[in-house]
Amino acid sequence: MDLPYAEPFRIKTIEQIYRSTKAERERWIKEAQYNLFNLRSEQVFVDLLTDSGTGAMSSAQWAEIMLGDESYAGASSYYKLKDTISDILGFPHFLPCHQGRAAENVLFSTLIGVGDAGAGKVVPGNSHFDTTKGHIEFRKARAVDCTIAEAFDTEADHPFKGNVDLAKLEAVFKSHPREAIPVCMLTITCNSSGGQPVSMENIKAVSSLCRKFKIPLFFDSARFAENAYFIKQREKGYAKKSIKEIVKEMFKHADGMTMSSKKDGIVNIGGFIAFRDEALWQRASTFNIMFEGFNTYGGMAGRDMGALSVGLRESTEYDYLEARVGQVAYLGSLLTNAGISVQRPYGGHAIFVNAKKFLPNLPKEEFQAQTLGIELYKEGGVRGVEIGTLLADRDPETGKERYPALELLRLAIPRRTYTNAHMDYVAAALINVNERAQSIRKGYRIVWEAPIMRHFTVRLAPAR
Ligand SMILES: *Cc1c(COP(=O)(O)O)cnc(C)c1O
Repeated sequence: MDLPYAEPFRIKTIEQIYRSTKAERERWIKEAQYNLFNLRSEQVFVDLLTDSGTGAMSSAQWAEIMLGDESYAGASSYYKLKDTISDILGFPHFLPCHQGRAAENVLFSTLIGVGDAGAGKVVPGNSHFDTTKGHIEFRKARAVDCTIAEAFDTEADHPFKGNVDLAKLEAVFKSHPREAIPVCMLTITCNSSGGQPVSMENIKAVSSLCRKFKIPLFFDSARFAENAYFIKQREKGYAKKSIKEIVKEMFKHADGMTMSSKKDGIVNIGGFIAFRDEALWQRASTFNIMFEGFNTYGGMAGRDMGALSVGLRESTEYDYLEARVGQVAYLGSLLTNAGISVQRPYGGHAIFVNAKKFLPNLPKEEFQAQTLGIELYKEGGVRGVEIGTLLADRDPETGKERYPALELLRLAIPRRTYTNAHMDYVAAALINVNERAQSIRKGYRIVWEAPIMRHFTVRLAPAR
């Protein structure tokens, strides 16, 4: 028989985690004002809040930490990373930043402008991530979501739900003057719509449409390696190509990219912007120096740039990705087999539970996905995150709630961190909640919220 995947690594160091009691958890979540971000990590048994910065580094990465060159200018760690970005991604110029949103801040300051410079401008793309949208709206521009309609049907088995609807994108291009569209952002994979990939065919088509209308195309590339894995698995003509070949081909179609290295860089902090055009890199470097740091370190320590250069090579290895995406699918199939509705097909970094179907007796005004996240925490000390109304935030113009098409509880799996026994545990906890789901009729109300990106700090209380 075909041998199954197994992690292409063994465990050298472990970190203890505490199994709390239900009574402790009920007290803690109340003290946290029902915001999972307010819990202390010791209060969590299996932490699936995010796969961002939570992965385990390899011994080769830790070795780079010791080799880090902390020179202010011209550090060898910077050149290691520059060579890797050029080798793996094919971009000749880059700016290090402290994380993905910092890269967005620098890039959008360059392309959209600062202050209210974005008024009247639009940034089309596919399910912009919350920080991306935040940075666009912060400048008074608007993010226009052109994702295909299939993405919003959680059970439609489309292989590339991150794809852009080309007709929608073209309509945006045609209905705005060129100066009103500073950039098109293609997110690979789409975090907000379920870790769903974009096909190579769609990447190519978006790229040629952008060229035709002379709009720069940047990739929001946090999970580019997982995207490449799905292309290899699912797209005709790519089964025999290596991940590194597919990655190169994907980025050939972009003018540049922003990166949250905390995802497919497999480091705990870091990010960068890469460019094809030297003049644009030059313009952006002024903002990078203002907001992040000098060009050869930006927001990063030398040691972290070294670890990132190794992480980018490791995350684009097939065996790693097979085990990584395989573990996500393992959790997905445990839940599907138990009759729980989750986003299909399974994404690359997380399983998204359909909270509307899970809690049919709860009104949407009481935050279905957040309520499910609280119940799962109380049940087993498992922390997920709401991808629903709290995250969607209010309409910046009307101040009204913008109820999204989907209410999802995201269970994001950190890279190389948990075993499949942890996945069994998570599934069992969620199945227990599911058995009493019909009786969950009360959700939460907002007691306090920030004017933007409220989900991180929102305070809640039981609704009634
Ligand atoms: C995480 C993420 C970002 C922001 O990166 P940070 O490192 O968290 O600032 C941007 N886009 C996508 C798609 C992401 O997943």
